[in-house]
Amino acid sequence: MQKEAGIHAKKEEIIAREAELGQYRVDGSFWVDLVNHSADNIDWLVEHGVQLTAVDDYHGTCQFPTFHWYKGGFVSIGYVPYMKEAADKLGTNFLLETTAQSLIFENGVVKGAYANQKGKIIKIKAKATLIATGGVGHSAELIEKQDWQTENLHYCSMPSNTGDGYKMAMSLGA
Ligand SMILES: Cc1cc2nc3c(=O)[nH]c(=O)nc-3n(C[C@H](O)[C@H](O)[C@H](O)COP(=O)(O)OP(=O)(O)OC[C@H]3O[C@@H](n4cnc5c(N)ncnc54)[C@H](O)[C@@H]3O)c2cc1C
Repeated sequence: MQKEAGIHAKKEEIIAREAELGQYRVDGSFWVDLVNHSADNIDWLVEHGVQLTAVDDYHGTCQFPTFHWYKGGFVSIGYVPYMKEAADKLGTNFLLETTAQSLIFENGVVKGAYANQKGKIIKIKAKATLIATGGVGHSAELIEKQDWQTENLHYCSMPSNTGDGYKMAMSLGA
């Protein structure tokens, strides 16, 4: 899509800028991997039905004009319904209104999670467990742990980004 729109961005410059914005605390190898596979990732999304309509500089706010727009301008329109359909076809069982609370840890191996489902604790056994609870940007406690002061901080993260996954992993010595 970028090529068709005549957009050129040097991946080295994107990675350097992202590292700078992350105050060099990020693991650069992840950025290299992400940027090197960004076209593959876009292809994968499109193969799964995701609707992308344009690439631009997001109203002049992007240093690199590589912002991909979903149909309708929202993930709720151009992304989520199609990914949900693809997941449903694979027989995915979504447990909504279910909050992971801790990991099942046996003999040094994570074997699932305990979760709170509408007040009831359930045990979910799993062959593999992925932590995907987002960042820690809505937890003053965890932000302060990084040595940043939060007194005048304006939170622009999602209220759900309280670092639950981070805490669960850290409690096991991650
Ligand atoms: C206002 C705003 C605008 C943004 N705009 C853009 C943009 O235009 N383009 C872009 O690329 N990025 C944008 N971002 C950044 C992007 O949204 C995030 O980087 C991305 O959503 C992170 O994805 P994630 O899957 O890691 O975490 P999240 O999207 O935060 O997903 C984590 C999920 O885990 C759930 N969860 C948390 N704790 C638990 C628990 N204990 N049990 C069960 N579930 C749990 C949460 O409810 C949430 O659904 C924006 C972010 C914000 C806040």
